[in-house]
Amino acid sequence: MTASLLLRNVRPYAGKAVDLLIENGKIAQLGTNLSAPAGVAIEDGKGDIVIPGLVEAHTHLDKSLLGLPWYTNEVGPKLLDKIDNERENKKRLDINPERQSARQSILSSLKGTTHIRSHVDVDTEHGLWGVEGVMQTRDAYRDIVDIELVAFPQSGLLRRPGTLELMDQAMQAGCEIVGGLDPCTIDRDPKGHLDAVFGLCQRYGKPLDIHLHEPGEVGAFSLDLIIERTRVLGMTGKVTVSHAFCLGTPDPALIDPLIEELAELDIAIMTTAPASRPAPPVKKLLQAGVRICSGSDGIRDTWSPYGNADMLERAMFVGLRNNFRRDDEVRLALDVCTIEGAKVMEIEDYGLEVGCVADLVLLPAESIAEAVATRPPQRRVIKRGKIVARDGVSIRTAP
Ligand SMILES: [Zn+2]
Repeated sequence: MTASLLLRNVRPYAGKAVDLLIENGKIAQLGTNLSAPAGVAIEDGKGDIVIPGLVEAHTHLDKSLLGLPWYTNEVGPKLLDKIDNERENKKRLDINPERQSARQSILSSLKGTTHIRSHVDVDTEHGLWGVEGVMQTRDAYRDIVDIELVAFPQSGLLRRPGTLELMDQAMQAGCEIVGGLDPCTIDRDPKGHLDAVFGLCQRYGKPLDIHLHEPGEVGAFSLDLIIERTRVLGMTGKVTVSHAFCLGTPDPALIDPLIEELAELDIAIMTTAPASRPAPPVKKLLQAGVRICSGSDGIRDTWSPYGNADMLERAMFVGLRNNFRRDDEVRLALDVCTIEGAKVMEIEDYGLEVGCVADLVLLPAESIAEAVATRPPQRRVIKRGKIVARDGVSIRTAP
């Protein structure tokens, strides 16, 4: 079902006030003093800023602890500690992927997110439990948010025999994207890991979105192997590298040639703008022509107690991490969480132009920079022309 609605007095990207007419879920007209066609509801925009829906381009819907008792984190410092701890305790902690993904999707939506890319664990302990659960949520909450799934071998691919077969089944089940993870430091077999995940991409004609936490020289080595395969297999524009901490290495001799190739092969980068790790330089990547998106990553899970699914706050983190202070720079940070993210997720008809799908957020602020800096809770969220959240309250109830 798609809706029609006349928004009066809204300011696209904090510009001049206009009326915005939505018909059948799409933006039909922008102008002044538009008249409402018969039967079309009118919403007073009250001079709010209107932006396209926020894009959560990297999260893990299947394993949030939202709504569950507080989890006391006593997990060891290594990546493998976190991976093994989560896998071993998921059932005990009752982290039901269907319920937990519904909770997080509603939270995301009421904060203004209209599109989510979720990595979903595939492992020999739980099989496709996560994939099936998130697919249930995707179908049940289509009215408030669009969700796409990445089949994600969180526990490693080759170090746990049977995982590749499950990944194959996850793609057959309808995952849109193949995932991968740290080819050197988790599987300790970069060629084997990358051949396997790129092989799945080839078999199913699907893109790749690979987690690459590996730092410095090791990460740069893995990234180089990813670039090489992207080129040889003709996957230009079909690869995203998530985190890519190695691009935060302050060594132009190591990084600059990689950035050049990322741009040439249209390989996208996802950064959460982490406070605790080296991070890809957002402005430098954008200027080089690299698509770049952002995401919350895990929200309140066994990895970390942090996260609230607010992509406006994420834009602030992008700004803080990249030392963005000028208004035009803060706008860049918001772009990463909106239009740039939409490019990475290849969302069709996204934006504020006539003909675009009416996935919108209204924000009471004077400027974009103020909206990012203050993150007002009084937001109105519109999905395909229908108001799906107001002032932090969703039309859907969390299970
Ligand atoms: Zn992640």
